[in-house]
Amino acid sequence: MKYYSLNHKSEQASFKEAVIRGLAPDKGLYFPESVPPLDPAFIEDLENQSNEEIAYRAIAPFAGDEIPENELRRIVGETLSFDFPLQEIEENVHSLELFHGPTMAFKDVGARFMARCLGYFNRDKKQDTGKVTVLVATSGDTGGAVASGFLGVKGVDVIILYPKGKVSDIQERQLTTLGQNITALEVNGTFDDCQDMVKNAFLDDSLSAKNLTSANSINVARWLPQMFYFFFAYKQLKDKSKDVVFTVPSGNFGNICAGIMARKLGLPVDHFVAATNINDTVPQYLQSGVYTPKPSRQTISNAMDVGNPSNFVRIQHLFDNDLDALKAGFSSYSFTDKATRDAMSQIYKKSGYIADPHGAVGYLGLKEYLKNNPGKAGIFLETAHPVKFLDIVEDTLGVHISIPEQIKTVMDKDKVKHNISNYEELKGFLLERE
Ligand SMILES: *Cc1c(COP(=O)(O)O)cnc(C)c1O
Repeated sequence: MKYYSLNHKSEQASFKEAVIRGLAPDKGLYFPESVPPLDPAFIEDLENQSNEEIAYRAIAPFAGDEIPENELRRIVGETLSFDFPLQEIEENVHSLELFHGPTMAFKDVGARFMARCLGYFNRDKKQDTGKVTVLVATSGDTGGAVASGFLGVKGVDVIILYPKGKVSDIQERQLTTLGQNITALEVNGTFDDCQDMVKNAFLDDSLSAKNLTSANSINVARWLPQMFYFFFAYKQLKDKSKDVVFTVPSGNFGNICAGIMARKLGLPVDHFVAATNINDTVPQYLQSGVYTPKPSRQTISNAMDVGNPSNFVRIQHLFDNDLDALKAGFSSYSFTDKATRDAMSQIYKKSGYIADPHGAVGYLGLKEYLKNNPGKAGIFLETAHPVKFLDIVEDTLGVHISIPEQIKTVMDKDKVKHNISNYEELKGFLLERE
């Protein structure tokens, strides 16, 4: 498969080149040159297919002949070694739980898939020649998923930037305690500052020998495997006679964009809803037709504190850059922290279900859409385990949440991090590493 840049100024790239580069040389996001639909008979029969088979079939065209079938099946199998249950919590309201992986947030799948692809591409490399440096900014969950997914991968050095004091204690532990090829940089600033520094590094020619790449959802190997979730949800949906609506709690809009790709592959989805916190650049755009990026604001759903969602250009592209077409298939609503907490309480009272703040934003988006569009089968994506936002969940619901095994393993380890304040310090840090 070839990938072109959405800025249309760079040459096309192979899958391998797109994964290793992250962004195209013209700084555009890569997009596959074609999106081949799956056999409709296969989609009819999803219930009888294993998750591994579904995922392999969905992703295979995007890797093309660059990863042999047996290797790609191994990568998919290792990536998906946990469950993705769909729970009906109210009539026609389902929660797709994406938090059963090693770091208990949905980013595990993309991070594990991308790490294994890079591992495959580096398979013949001697230890230190042509090492790839994965540089990633996190508002919370990406860091942990990338650290866990890339731990010990040959030929890959991972550097994670996170805003000081703005990630939860568990999130910080997940990205600062692993060691080996994983290094954490605590930034005196916001998530936007972290993301700007990473962007500067990608633009900086004096760092080209570092082979910098991104493990944010701009990277096709992190973005595309997120398509799997939508197939797994549909597979488990008992009543397939109704129109299906997915609501995705959104920050950088990679996850929901993968859902729209799944529909392109033939999955019967009637509508997508992107639910955001008060970082409402996209909901505002749908209302006004003017896209105005804003500085991000801190909320209790911190993994979605993004003021300029990087994947939105891919979504626009999927709708032929036509605002009316976009609005016909896609809605977006924003919710305050207060509404989010109220929703968490309401869900808990109604069904005993404990949602984390991100899932609760998703739930709110679904309810909002169903108000005017009743009778549909609604699915919201529950993107993180409530334990990852322990203080907020316990405080809001007055419940005690026991710590799962995956999290216990990082609780008693020491945090190791370096502190930086600006781009020059990041650059100095990168240049000093061999
Ligand atoms: C990253 C993240 C999101 C947002 O996903 P995008 O693909 O960036 O829109 C939502 N919820 C949680 C828990 C996350 O970690």
